Amino acid sequence: MWIPVVDLRVCKGCGDCVQVCPDGALKIVDKKLVVDYNKCSCCGVCDRICKWGALELKSPQLPQIAQQGVQLAGLRVEVKKLKQELRETRRAVKTF
Ligand code: SF4
Ligand code: SF4
Repeated sequence: MWIPVVDLRVCKGCGDCVQVCPDGALKIVDKKLVVDYNKCSCCGVCDRICKWGALELKSPQLPQIAQQGVQLAGLRVEVKKLKQELRETRRAVKTF
């Protein structure tokens, strides 16, 4: 599933996308686009209509995947530390 994400630095607040959204999920607030994700059916029409390229379809899963990647990197560091401790403990046992 993909959701439209607006880059507020690029959005001109022209309202072109608001006109074409079949679900009434878009509105202009303070000259910037606001997306109501409770109404959006992810049809992607708004992404195609914006001539400024302010809208992009993104996967809501991406942040989760990125988060898992960070957790995995953290686990690798922990495993490395444990291996080092194990080596040091073995050395200590040998010299005991
Ligand atoms: S069409 Fe593009 S520039 Fe216009 S309101 Fe929508 S996102 Fe903003
Ligand atoms: S993806 Fe479709 S339903 Fe969702 S905001 Fe854009 S035009 Fe509306």
